Amino acid sequence: MAEYTRPLPRPTKFSQGFWEGAKRHELVVQRCRDCGRYRHSPKLACPHCLSTDTEWARVSGRGTVYTYTVHYRAPAPAFGSDLPLVTALIELEEGPLMMSNIVGCPPEKVRIGLPVEVVFEDATEHITFPRFKPR
Ligand code: ZN
Repeated sequence: MAEYTRPLPRPTKFSQGFWEGAKRHELVVQRCRDCGRYRHSPKLACPHCLSTDTEWARVSGRGTVYTYTVHYRAPAPAFGSDLPLVTALIELEEGPLMMSNIVGCPPEKVRIGLPVEVVFEDATEHITFPRFKPR
């Protein structure tokens, strides 16, 4: 694995399950055990019913591009070799929105509503990023 030079997330007690799932190449989000709704990003309580009874649930990894932007200037020097870079909000089939990047597709082919599926980028021994590619 080549040395990864971009900034890395620092998992918290709320997000640890998400990162552990990604490491297994499984896309997981929180699901409320009381009302059954999925949510992302991870939160202490369900935004729909305020229950704190939560589990990590594997989701399909499929969704559509809700909105996106194309970076032609690096947001930080470490991203310079990845330009142009597409950052997108993905609407997962299960409902939640997830911020990520679109890969495997020229930026001019990305559009709102584009069907996408998750792929996993192993950045380091501990961190794997879910990214999305057209399907
Ligand atoms: Zn709930």
